Amino acid sequence: MTVRIGIIGPGGMGQAHIRRITEELAGGQVVAVTDIHPERARQVADALGATVHTDGFALINADDVDAVMVTSFGPAHEESVIQAIEAGKPVFVEKPLAPTADACLRIMEAEQRACRRLVQVGFMRRYDASYRAMKAILDSGEIGEVLMVHCAHRNPAVPESYTTDMAINDTAIHEVDTMRWLLGEEFVTARVDRPKKTRNRFPHLLDPLVLVLESESGVRVDDEVFVNHQYGYDIRCEAVAEKGTVSLADQHTIERRDGGGHRNRVTTDHNDRFDGAFHTEIQEWIRSIEVGQVTGPSSWDGYAAACVCDAGVKALLEDAGTVRVEMIEKPAFYSSGVPVSA
Ligand code: NAD
Repeated sequence: MTVRIGIIGPGGMGQAHIRRITEELAGGQVVAVTDIHPERARQVADALGATVHTDGFALINADDVDAVMVTSFGPAHEESVIQAIEAGKPVFVEKPLAPTADACLRIMEAEQRACRRLVQVGFMRRYDASYRAMKAILDSGEIGEVLMVHCAHRNPAVPESYTTDMAINDTAIHEVDTMRWLLGEEFVTARVDRPKKTRNRFPHLLDPLVLVLESESGVRVDDEVFVNHQYGYDIRCEAVAEKGTVSLADQHTIERRDGGGHRNRVTTDHNDRFDGAFHTEIQEWIRSIEVGQVTGPSSWDGYAAACVCDAGVKALLEDAGTVRVEMIEKPAFYSSGVPVSA
């Protein structure tokens, strides 16, 4: 079976997924495209021999579209995801599921009305080999319980349109989801520390900042978010447990030693660092549609991460100190269904 996929918003991320589906992965074909910039949609579709649709609704409801991929920008996700749910079609949506917890809640409600798990959120780090190896060690209990986790999320630069809240709800949301998955528990508070500002930033940005989270059992997670770090895309994570630590290694593929010293290549962006994770994520999504059971990060995961980010944004923008994470009880729909991919 070939899963016929329609893509809404084929910008940077969408085109990277299209390339993977077309050149590397099995079982999927991109047959339909739409974008608020019609010339972009046309260009992408022509290269694929795909159909251009005037808008997301037309694409979602096209007879030859089996599944939908939403890679438009965050504020546009809710409308497309709910339309896909109402059409009864599986939908992969890039993170964030939606920019606020309230919007995520509306998506969860639509999915529960449909009585089927249809949504997968693009939290691809759960598919990264090194994070999975970390999780296996922590889950084995060999080094005891986790007490603290130190994370860093460093980007070379962001565009002027990037706003300070995005440091939390667009960037740190990756660590929020990965830590929920790694620790297997929810966060109860969020706080933001503001270190000295880099001079390499737009005046409206607070950069870097440190998001500090506390989990239900008291695990403290700190996440350095530094989005104008200049040198590369550098993702770090060290979990400190009772009898040892486990951390991501350097993400190089080669090591160079010469008269200039001992150097590793630094990854440049998310597609470079997480190529393997994206590959596995999208391949597993296509397979899950073939077998009729979406298993990846759910709307609940998108919602829970958004709740933590809402608290973080409040702490940041309102200078509100330590803010409690407000979250509804997890609906049975998301507990009793298929498990989240390990
Ligand atoms: P982008 O700006 O390159 O692409 C977004 C595309 O969506 C553009 O072509 C834009 O014209 C189109 N678009 C916007 N609103 C639309 C709408 N209502 N209908 C149709 N098309 C619309 O952005 P990007 O960097 O590709 O990011 C897209 C999404 O992917 C965002 O949600 C972002 O957070 C996420 N993302 C995820 C990762 C990751 O590591 N998983 C990395 C980067 C971006």
